[in-house]
Order: sequence, then C-alpha cells, then structure tokens
Amino acid sequence: MSSITTANKQDLFRRFAACRDEDPELFFPIGTTGPALLQIEEARSVCFSCPLMNRCADDAMTRSESDGVWGGLSEDDRTWLRRRARDELGARWAELTRTERDTLLARLTRRLRLAERGRPAVRLPAALAA
Ligand code: SF4
Repeated sequence: MSSITTANKQDLFRRFAACRDEDPELFFPIGTTGPALLQIEEARSVCFSCPLMNRCADDAMTRSESDGVWGGLSEDDRTWLRRRARDELGARWAELTRTERDTLLARLTRRLRLAERGRPAVRLPAALAA
C-alpha cells in the first residue's frame, strides 16, 4: 500500500509547490517554438526551485501528460524521456523501475540545468539527442 494518499499528495502540492502563486497559464505555452520557448524556460525556472520537482515530473510521465510544463519538463522533454526509456531499456515509462526512472530524469534535468546556465541554449531536445 502506498504511504502517500491522494489527499496527502494534493495537500503536499498545495502547500509546497513553487507554482502555487503563479499564473497557471505560464505552464501551458501554445506550441513548442518561437515565444513559447521563452515561456517554457520561464516555467522551467519556477520548477527548478520547487521541492516537488522530481515527483511532479515522474507523475506527469506516469500519466502520459501531453500538455504543459510539469516538473521542469516540457512536452519535448517528456518525448525525449519516453524515447530513451524505449530505446535504452526497451520499456515504457510505467514499466521502468524507480532507479531507472530516477537515472533518466537525473540525466535530463542535469542537461537542462547546464543549458539554463549557458543560455541561450533553450532548444533542448535536439541538443540532448547529440
Ligand atoms: S515542479 Fe513545477 S509544475 Fe510541478 S509543482 Fe513544482 S513548480 Fe509546479
């Protein structure tokens, strides 16, 4: 049995999420190019200050969230993770072990943070694929 109930989890996010006072629209850019890239970066920087970032990212991957920025991950980032899971480990995200998920997430977020520091490298998935 999970030690965290849905109600507890909702309470956790209500109390500690870094985005709780942000405009929700910030996390739902229209598209993945042009001005949307800057919006994604702005949303991502809020996530990078959030104590719930890894949990939020994993939850979004588990429920195959298609839209928005969650846990610092854009739609393209989640696509990158799904591909890595499939290509490197031969499994879908939901089938990975906790360690495998954490490893992939850590790799991606490390690169995202490096790209963030070295702006303007914001077009991430193509750079990450190299
Ligand atoms: S990681 Fe980002 S989207 Fe998720 S709760 Fe934190 S600030 Fe909100």
